Amino acid sequence: MSHTTPWRNFHVTVTLAYMLRASDDDLSELLSDRETGHSVSPAEAKALATELQARGFTYLPVCDNAGADGRCQGHDIEA
Ligand SMILES: [Zn+2]
Repeated sequence: MSHTTPWRNFHVTVTLAYMLRASDDDLSELLSDRETGHSVSPAEAKALATELQARGFTYLPVCDNAGADGRCQGHDIEA
């Protein structure tokens, strides 16, 4: 009996409700992209979260394998 999936990788995300109540400082920290240097302003982030909630998402979709609620469905790890 196993309820774990050791060979799948899941992206961590946050709920849209969290984004909508987070402070501007928290959002800046959350959304700054250290790889590209691109960052989204807190106002843009809240507008995006509102739009995604209206489309039925619960979580912020952060990858190309997000489910209907926006949460990562997991990725097979290449051996
Ligand atoms: Zn993912």
